Formats: sequence, structure tokens, C-alpha cells
Amino acid sequence: MAQDPQKCVFCRIVRKEIPAKLLFENDHVFAFHDINPQAPVHVLVIPKVHLDSLQDLASAELGAELLQGVREVVRRLDLGQAGFRTVINTGRDGGQSVDHLHLHVLAGRQLGWPPG
Ligand code: 5GP
Ligand code: ZN
Repeated sequence: MAQDPQKCVFCRIVRKEIPAKLLFENDHVFAFHDINPQAPVHVLVIPKVHLDSLQDLASAELGAELLQGVREVVRRLDLGQAGFRTVINTGRDGGQSVDHLHLHVLAGRQLGWPPG
């Protein structure tokens, strides 16, 4: 179901209506620490425009901006040497709980595979 950007929690974070631990932002993306971290480092990279999920990402340019956003997180937190994982949960079976596209960046411990 389409999410109303007025009510969307991540749109509200982008508008700074609710606080978040911001890592960086640029014209296209916003990166902030997850409120319920699943690893020592758990950052979310989101588009500033509201998109419900990866299924709505029609712009190749914005897709590239999001991946560059992940690279910027990696650079700023110096994750490149040890490594990290990037995850996009989509829809019910994918375990998506917030209907605004987001890329998880997880790091700081050995991560298990496959995911549960
Ligand atoms: P999903 O389960 O949709 O892939 O991931 C949503 C993520 O958003 C979860 O890891 C959850 O902890 C995080 N989250 C939900 N609400 C907030 C919030 O208000 N602030 C922050 N920083 N993270 C949130
Ligand atoms: Zn939104």
C-alpha cells in the first residue's frame, strides 16, 4: 500500500521533524544510524524523495546515488578494510517494516549467512 509522505517516518526524519543520528546528507540521499542497531554499525541510507520500496526505484541515477551513499558511509566510518553488508528488505517476505526505500549498512562484527 502506498505510504503518505506526510506521515512516513523516514520522510519526517528527512524534514527533521523527528530526530535521528545523522551521518551525512546531500541533495539526493540521507544517511543516519538505525534506532535499533543489529550490529555495532547499523546505518540506513535513504532517498530524500519518498519511494515505497525498491520496486518504485525507476531512476538509474537515483539508484547510483544510493550506492554512492553507501560508499560514503563506508568511507566516513572506515569500514572498507573489515567489510560490511548492504541489505534492502522489500515487502512482506523480505521483512520490510518501514515503507520508505532504505539500504541497511551493517558492520562491526562477523555477519551470519544465510539470513534467517
Ligand atoms: P526494515 O525492517 O524496513 O528493513 O528496516 C527498517 C529499519 O528502520 C529498522 O532497522 C528500524 O530499526 C529502523 N527504524 C524504524 N523507525 C526508526 C526511526 O524512527 N529512527 C531510526 N533511526 N530508525 C528507525
Ligand atoms: Zn517516506
